[in-house]
Amino acid sequence: MTVQAKKFIAPGDVAAMRIDCTRCGASLSIPISGSIRIDRLYGCPNCNEPWLKLPSGASLDLEVRNCVAALNELAQRLKHKEYGGFNLHLEVRDETQALTVEK
Ligand SMILES: [Zn+2]
Repeated sequence: MTVQAKKFIAPGDVAAMRIDCTRCGASLSIPISGSIRIDRLYGCPNCNEPWLKLPSGASLDLEVRNCVAALNELAQRLKHKEYGGFNLHLEVRDETQALTVEK
């Protein structure tokens, strides 16, 4: 028998944004509840591998700002009882969760 577990997370349960450097393996976890110095994420603080801003000038600056702002705004607005008619969760993809149970 194969059991598949689905994982869900509410917007208000997202605590931090994590960046893992694919070059040196450094990890950075930044709480999303406060202000984020996006310019500090342009490159890895350990090895200088470009992260949010590429040498070409292309950048994910705006997308990351918008994503964090939208998560925080959604979490705040979902707290109000006027939206009490539903619960909103994001489904997290996790292909490693397939579990085979011997019977
Ligand atoms: Zn690095």
